[in-house]
Amino acid sequence: MKRPEESVVHGSPAQPTDRPAATPDQLPAVDRLLRAPSVQALTTAHGHTLIAAEARALLADLRQQARAGMLAADDVALERLASTLERRVEQRLAPRLRAVINLTGTVIHTNLGRALLPDAALAQVQALMASPNNLEYDLATGGRGDRDSLIEALLCELTGAEAATVVNNNAAAVLLTLAALAARKEVIVSRGELVEIGGAFRMPDVMKSASARLVEVGTTNRTHPQDYERAITARTALLMKVHASNYAVQGFTAAASEAELAPIARTHGLPLVTDLGSGALIDMTAWGLPAEPTPRQMLAAGCDVVSFSGDKLLGGPQAGLIVGRKDLIARIRKHPLKRALRLSKLPLAALEATLRLYLRPERLAQELPTLRLLTRPLADIEATAHALRPIVQTALAPRFGVEVVALHGQIGSGSLPVERLPSAGLAMAPAEKRGAGRALQELATALRELPRPVIGRIQDERLLLDVRCLEDAAAFSNQIGLLRLSNKRKQLPI
Ligand SMILES: *Cc1c(COP(=O)(O)O)cnc(C)c1O
Repeated sequence: MKRPEESVVHGSPAQPTDRPAATPDQLPAVDRLLRAPSVQALTTAHGHTLIAAEARALLADLRQQARAGMLAADDVALERLASTLERRVEQRLAPRLRAVINLTGTVIHTNLGRALLPDAALAQVQALMASPNNLEYDLATGGRGDRDSLIEALLCELTGAEAATVVNNNAAAVLLTLAALAARKEVIVSRGELVEIGGAFRMPDVMKSASARLVEVGTTNRTHPQDYERAITARTALLMKVHASNYAVQGFTAAASEAELAPIARTHGLPLVTDLGSGALIDMTAWGLPAEPTPRQMLAAGCDVVSFSGDKLLGGPQAGLIVGRKDLIARIRKHPLKRALRLSKLPLAALEATLRLYLRPERLAQELPTLRLLTRPLADIEATAHALRPIVQTALAPRFGVEVVALHGQIGSGSLPVERLPSAGLAMAPAEKRGAGRALQELATALRELPRPVIGRIQDERLLLDVRCLEDAAAFSNQIGLLRLSNKRKQLPI
């Protein structure tokens, strides 16, 4: 079994031992193992149930290894078994959801948990979750309160909306909005915006789940305002725009903007709904970042309802925010699905604290990790890369050469997919051309197997570590110090 505190890259794990082999009957009975002093200490710490179950499972595994001739005689010594058991128990109790080091170059990485929570949000979660709170209790009247009311005014202030409500994520926000405003009616959407966000979230399927009928207009690359207008019938519930988050239509293209559609919607008495996806709350260009439409701009352009995520550019917890016209938000809030999709107190506490940071925009780039990482000066990123290079080179010599390189990262989570963030990092290239592909895979695996896994990317026969998101260089160096690479070259298959 591999020690959890180090990661080893060499040979395959279970191989017939060249030391004297143990036979199954050399293994102790469970009771004898449980009576060993160090195992008794484990039982005192964790209780009999877990330790006895793990001891039985360990002995069963070893018995099988012994039968296959894969267990060395010195592995069955009682103290050796006790320490193996201890590691097994530690692993059993260790959470599977773990902190990793994101060196992919993608700041808001959906597979790596998206936005990092600001300290203020962490503090609020810590302070509130072990205590009763006024989640649905009105402190002014002593009567029943509404969880939305805790952040509605703040959201309205930050977006210019009349009303706001929150649910579990933006997918839920879109589903609920359509279910409340368009069930058994028609929704007009451009063909170019029938997007799949990832996994099972495809716009046409979401429509179906909400019992809304999709009416596609225009073509994949070009849709005009008249296309929407011509499709309006007595069965139309609303006009819908979907922000093209994770792809770009380039070349001969045309899309009807919210500002162009708003008068059409108003003339026909229909709501205009926009799914903004990322939804930066502030103008990103103020920080030198690419422009991203804000909910405030969308509402000012005439949208009636705007939905967006809490854990993308907003930089908070997973949440779906719906802002817009008072009567429409009221209908959305009254729909039975709202109860099923509502935000729990844990992300609500984090969301409120995150939103309050926006009241102090001058401090935002410091206090909101997402914005801090996106605006991190290139010179700072390069300095981190240069400081780490010798440490990584020492750990990887002689199998890999390590150099500092210029890189291009991404914002991530579907934001601005064609924009690139100039960045810097380390490139690790195998010293030998032969077996280079496998050497890189081994290195990537070893980095993932560290106690705090390090996640990079393989590109052009090199493993790249983009250090934009590495603010704690010491934590990374510590992990690299635990990396163990074999100098042995593996035998090539015959
Ligand atoms: C990300 C995204 C969604 C889904 O939002 P979640 O918060 O991940 O549920 C929906 N629509 C668009 C346009 C998106 O970019």
